[in-house]
Amino acid sequence: MTTVHAHAPVISIRERYRDAVSDRWPVTVMPQPEELLSSWLHRLAYANGVAPKAFARVLGLSPGMWSAALDQRLPADIAYLLYAKTGAAPDRLAAMTLSQDLPTQLLLPLRYNGRRDSAAWLQFCCRCLAEDPQPYFRRRWRLATRVSCTQHGCRLRDRCPSCHGCIAVFDQTELVPQHYCVACGYDLRRAPIPYLSPETRTLDRCIENICSLEAIARAPSGPVLVRRLLGMPGAGGYCSTMILTSLSTAARAYCAERLSRPREWSVDYATDDEKDCKERRLQRLIPPTSDHSAWIELLANALGRRKGRPRATEGNDRGIKLPNLLGAYARMSPGPGRREVQKLIGT
Ligand SMILES: [Zn+2]
Ligand SMILES: [Zn+2]
Repeated sequence: MTTVHAHAPVISIRERYRDAVSDRWPVTVMPQPEELLSSWLHRLAYANGVAPKAFARVLGLSPGMWSAALDQRLPADIAYLLYAKTGAAPDRLAAMTLSQDLPTQLLLPLRYNGRRDSAAWLQFCCRCLAEDPQPYFRRRWRLATRVSCTQHGCRLRDRCPSCHGCIAVFDQTELVPQHYCVACGYDLRRAPIPYLSPETRTLDRCIENICSLEAIARAPSGPVLVRRLLGMPGAGGYCSTMILTSLSTAARAYCAERLSRPREWSVDYATDDEKDCKERRLQRLIPPTSDHSAWIELLANALGRRKGRPRATEGNDRGIKLPNLLGAYARMSPGPGRREVQKLIGT
């Protein structure tokens, strides 16, 4: 039996001890703006000293694309487990999934057939990753309509420039941050930036700004626009049997490039007066960029401008070609400066 010294310090259990022995995981990670759920899960695993592939077991899931599947559907029991272990509220977790406000028909697929021009499930902007204090992947990088970064204007990538592998952080068995390629360890923040024409960047921004799920669902021409966006590989002369969501970022950028640039061989022989008149007519027909419904109709018609093809509506915009529409959009809503983008890509 031990005797207690009369002057021994008294140890009492205070409230904070309860926190230290709670069921929560030791480190919590704050979701970043527009972060994809899988990206947050990978950061959470890394911060708590668990490699992403092993973290699937912690959540009671099978390996494979476990985190990418949670982006598409977060079961209630997993949401509750994450809430109990991290304190992240269910509505905050739901906001990181893809079920909130992105058109599901335009999402990149989770399957991959290994072809060079096939879609990968996720894209990234190396500039964004390089500037992030803790690099993370954005929700909108899952959309097939996106080929450029909203913030930097530079082209996105969907493959590691070193080994050409897709993003596969869910398969990572090492304890390394998610911006390192799982297959070869390349630091994706160092990836060179591919060239993208200003017209293609404008098309990308235009689609991004007017095509929220809410706007597409409300606009009468919404379903036609979604079909025409999916049909861009055929309209752009790439491949008539493939849809946009089946192609790699490079192939989709090529399609957008073909559609958005004026034809090099088309010479406009109109006089200056005729050109002024055409410009004034164009200005009369173009609504403000805040009128999403009208822009959805204009874009659907411009993407469908082919002989014998029905128009989205019988409005009065007959004759507005996609390059002219994009020129008007660029004047009304200038994006990241061309000089800045060229500085980034080093041309
Ligand atoms: Zn960026
Ligand atoms: Zn690699």
